[in-house]
Amino acid sequence: MNYISTRGAAAGERHTFSDILLGGLAKDGGLYLPAAYPRVSADELTRWRALPYADLAFEILSKFSDDIPAADLRELTRRTYTAQTYCNVRDDEQAAQITPLKTLGVENGAPLALLELSNGPTLAFKDMAMQLLGNLFEYTLAKHGETLNILGATSGDTGSAAEYAMRGKRGVRVFMLSPHKKMSAFQTAQMYSLQDPNIFNIAIEGVFDDCQDIVKAVSNDHAFKAAHKIGTVNSINWARVVAQVVYYFKGYFAATKSNDERVSFAVPSGNFGNVCAGHIARMMGLPIEKLVVATNENDVLDEFFRTGIYRVRKAAETYHTSSPSMDISKASNFERFVFDLLGRDPARVLQLFRDVEEKGGFDLAASGDFARVKAFGFVSGSSTHTDRVDAIRDVFERYDTMIDTHTADGLKVAREHLQSGIPMIVLETAQPIKFGETIREALLREPGRPAAFVGLEALPQRFEVLPADAQQVKAFVASKTGA
Ligand SMILES: *Cc1c(COP(=O)(O)O)cnc(C)c1O
Repeated sequence: MNYISTRGAAAGERHTFSDILLGGLAKDGGLYLPAAYPRVSADELTRWRALPYADLAFEILSKFSDDIPAADLRELTRRTYTAQTYCNVRDDEQAAQITPLKTLGVENGAPLALLELSNGPTLAFKDMAMQLLGNLFEYTLAKHGETLNILGATSGDTGSAAEYAMRGKRGVRVFMLSPHKKMSAFQTAQMYSLQDPNIFNIAIEGVFDDCQDIVKAVSNDHAFKAAHKIGTVNSINWARVVAQVVYYFKGYFAATKSNDERVSFAVPSGNFGNVCAGHIARMMGLPIEKLVVATNENDVLDEFFRTGIYRVRKAAETYHTSSPSMDISKASNFERFVFDLLGRDPARVLQLFRDVEEKGGFDLAASGDFARVKAFGFVSGSSTHTDRVDAIRDVFERYDTMIDTHTADGLKVAREHLQSGIPMIVLETAQPIKFGETIREALLREPGRPAAFVGLEALPQRFEVLPADAQQVKAFVASKTGA
């Protein structure tokens, strides 16, 4: 499997899965994609239906990473996708499913279900990919005798998923910046209670943007970055995207009896990483009818799928909402889909994303390309705070099921795209306990708390407070990496 850049510069070069695993953007600023998507045969689809999650993950990942010996990859997926790791289930008997499908009911003739992706250690879907990434990083670094220091900024979900994936991993340290005293007590405790010596929580005296600016400043210091082997695990990481392809297959098998049936997926979206995996599953031949892109008030993606206009937002136009993990001003994985939409023409992708940088966006409305969005199965919609509160209340009353704010956005938009006879699977991206304030507002009661999280806020916490100053952060990192 050879990987190419969406902007074309690497066209003559060869990149394996392992080559791009630890990196971020391609040299030309584009994103990596396989030179061609592997197709799944009818026989494979039939055989895969019966596989446990870990073995399904092996089958799918091995199509994208033929440079990793099969026995090693099988061991990695079996070690990653265990009932012990994904134990925070509604129903204990379902833990072995890893991503259980919870049937809600039939609406407008369409069976409606939730695919639970948030049963992992941090109760958000990012664990699905990040846990694999932790094992892949450890494996690859050991093979090459290397080490990696991951530097990141978080306002909650991504940082904790990264820490829980990398804790205790040989060859990896994590330096995670978060705004001091600005996260919820639950989120703070989730991260700061980790006592692993390779995890460093740095509480910055500032806001999330200060944390992000420091990460950028350190990353732009190429000498420091090289000397201290600084890397990232952001959402453009290809391995994260491809690991997410697996649960689209798993959800399809759970919702259907035969491979002649089609299903739709509704995906709460921010950086377009999750739904990009759905697009890839569809390109591989999974019978997906519609991919429903659901946004909150930050509707960059909904605007594109409705109008053909992609217009990134400025910081002042990016709202802080009650589904905060979807508060984005531009969708960092979107370029991967645009590449396919334009018939994989890197020169045009380069031009369009130059327009994004220089003019703040692009307009495909008048071009023939936009008409093809439908052929790729994409539809969209957006949701507001009132919509999500209503959806949380409605699902609780009608189906006795509590959903989180992001999943509520997915459900609200899913309902606008139901088709009789076609199952609609809403991806559940987090558990309600992570966003308790809105649950209390909607239901006037406390969200359910998985057993492993009882007493979390009372555990001892380990973190370092630093001023919002890149030099001091660098000095701290240097003192721990000793280079
Ligand atoms: C990250 C996240 C999303 C958005 O996923 P993308 O891959 O960025 O589109 C949605 N919901 C939750 C809970 C998340 O943590």
